[in-house]
Amino acid sequence: MTDGTPPGSVVVVGAGQGGYQTAASLREYGYEGSITLISAEDALPYERPPLSKAYLRGEADEAQLWLRPATYYVRQSIDLVAGTVSEIDPAARTVCLTDGSVYGYDHLVLATGATPRTLDVPGTELRGVHTLRTARDAAALQSALAGARHAVVVGAGYIGLEFASVARESGVGVTVVEALDRPLSRVASARTAEHFTRLHRSKGTELLFGQGVTALHGNGRSGVTAVELADGGRRPADLVLVGVGVTPRTELAVAAGLPVSGGITVDSRLLTGDPHISAIGDCATFPQARSGNRRRLESVQNAVGHARAVAERLTGRPRAYDELPWFWSDQFSTTVQIAGLAEGHESEVVLGDDPDAFSVLRFYGKDLQAVESVNRPADHIAARRLLGRGTRLTPEGASAPGFSLKEYLRGSL
Ligand SMILES: Cc1cc2nc3c(=O)[nH]c(=O)nc-3n(C[C@H](O)[C@H](O)[C@H](O)COP(=O)(O)OP(=O)(O)OC[C@H]3O[C@@H](n4cnc5c(N)ncnc54)[C@H](O)[C@@H]3O)c2cc1C
Repeated sequence: MTDGTPPGSVVVVGAGQGGYQTAASLREYGYEGSITLISAEDALPYERPPLSKAYLRGEADEAQLWLRPATYYVRQSIDLVAGTVSEIDPAARTVCLTDGSVYGYDHLVLATGATPRTLDVPGTELRGVHTLRTARDAAALQSALAGARHAVVVGAGYIGLEFASVARESGVGVTVVEALDRPLSRVASARTAEHFTRLHRSKGTELLFGQGVTALHGNGRSGVTAVELADGGRRPADLVLVGVGVTPRTELAVAAGLPVSGGITVDSRLLTGDPHISAIGDCATFPQARSGNRRRLESVQNAVGHARAVAERLTGRPRAYDELPWFWSDQFSTTVQIAGLAEGHESEVVLGDDPDAFSVLRFYGKDLQAVESVNRPADHIAARRLLGRGTRLTPEGASAPGFSLKEYLRGSL
């Protein structure tokens, strides 16, 4: 659609959080053309956050992960196709699947997500070595946990730490090995990282920082048995989770000649270099409305927000994407919720005296950029509203005795 007329047909590649939401929002906004949602996974579209939380703990079954039951797609005339797209032909406006079938599109949405990085060390092919991205990965991990005695988690990001908490709660011994000097270094403040370090250690988990993994040992019969560390030490392991981040799935875009740099490059409307192709969610880098910096984000909010913005554009309401990013993670009985993005932050103000319930307000100059709330959900809600409306708050204002985000929000309305 380049003239404001909705496209006659939309094809969405990838039926994860963003792909599903694109199809659902198109129908919600009154789109009447054909929608084809192509899924490489042998499952109805489902949400991933429970894979490292309730589902891994055995508190949710697969059907509870589904974003919608099968009948929804039939009722909404969304053609859910099982298959993997192997090629885009931008000139002919077609996609080709590995089984040879071809689908034409007026508009194409790439929602291909990301794939876990692996370790470049000997032994990663051993049985017992896992990554966690799909429901199938989670089911394999769940059954491996049932018979495990000692798990080693490589990488102290959110997925590694969430898995570590579930493993520990199931009585498994856990060692977390992180190359950097603290957990969550890319995504959270030192104060929040320190809290999670203390929490995991208090539950009996060993956390090693500034430590690399050089090899995984074992054999074909036993599977993995030990992890070798860069300092020469070893840890026993009958289960290894590699949680060292993801790589965006850009291969289709690269082959189609679309601009790609650390993700599929899109403009503020989430359009690639081709006016008939959008890209959203984990696979896309987009310009942040607030800072102008290009970012690729990995969160449900980001995938859903992108999907809705594309669906609005395709139904005649184009807008620049400028939603406030937010995120959450659950570990043991602790929830951290983050509103906004701290980019080159310069100062912090901590609210709350309780070491297990506090909020870290992160500022760039005089401007509030992000708020991390640990077990303080009311702060998170207030922070989303404050940041979303662009309400001014300075470090001096937030440091005033008795300052409360909720009261400040109320006063600013
Ligand atoms: C274990 C886990 C826990 C998480 N927890 C949280 C959380 O607590 N909070 C939060 O905000 N976020 C969380 N996330 C992140 C969040 O789930 C992702 O950011 C979100 O799923 C991204 O949506 P997406 O549509 O971009 O990609 P995905 O949901 O990954 O979907 C991409 C889909 O595209 C398919 N695909 C790829 N290539 C092709 C192709 N060529 N043909 C057909 N299909 C293809 C893939 O198979 C996949 O099904 C978590 C992620 C994981 C893995």
